[in-house]
Amino acid sequence: KVHFEQVSKRFGSGPQAVQALEPISLAIEEGAFTCLLGPSGCGKSTLLNILAGFEHPTSGQVLMDGLRVRGPDSRRGVVFQQGALFTWMNVLDNVAFGPLATGKSAAEAARIAAQYIEMVGLSGFAKRFPYELSGGMQQRVGIARALANSPEILLMDEPFAALDAQTRELLQEEIKRIWHETHKTILWITHSIDEALFLATEVVVMSARPGRIKAKFQPRFAQSNDPAVV
Ligand code: ATP
Ligand code: MG
Repeated sequence: KVHFEQVSKRFGSGPQAVQALEPISLAIEEGAFTCLLGPSGCGKSTLLNILAGFEHPTSGQVLMDGLRVRGPDSRRGVVFQQGALFTWMNVLDNVAFGPLATGKSAAEAARIAAQYIEMVGLSGFAKRFPYELSGGMQQRVGIARALANSPEILLMDEPFAALDAQTRELLQEEIKRIWHETHKTILWITHSIDEALFLATEVVVMSARPGRIKAKFQPRFAQSNDPAVV
């Protein structure tokens, strides 16, 4: 479980300072698919980057299962907007990179990689290089790479924003299936209320100036096992 405890963020100092986040408290339940919505500049990415460990809060703290987040580590898997794949590695090596880096044998890392490559529907593409793939396929590799590290939570900052509408819809279905299959906790930033309503078990709406949480609700799409849904 993730807890934001009175987390605020100010960039810079003096008259140039930007208060990106007012003190925010937020709990993310294990297994939840949380969508973060809000206008441009309201602090969504800042919030995600603090949880990822890429930014340090100005005040407050983020706890994961009671442990304070101090920097990036393998408990959070991040999927970037443009895949951010290693261009000089094929798909298999991209996905196996994390397991290898954490000490798995080459054979074990390749086995894990193959498993997640299959999960994102790219079995036939393991030997391809990123430049040989479409944008949507690259995003799939990014998702497989994040999952291969067995993170407790997946963090995605508008992962499909650069994709065409059709591909985006396809990948929305896909990520929902993956969420059902893996029971991963997901924090997902989007500009699209439709996307949030389709995907989320929990929608968090932020407002700008200063960045704070305006509303939080559970959409009614319904997991059948969710007693909160009628
Ligand atoms: P968008 O929807 O456009 O991605 P966002 O909700 O993700 O916006 P953030 O990127 O979190 O917004 O930015 C929140 C505020 O903090 C903005 O005013 C932004 O200009 C400012 N900000 C973000 N990162 C930095 C930084 N590294 N240095 C200075 N200001 C920053
Ligand atoms: Mg952003």
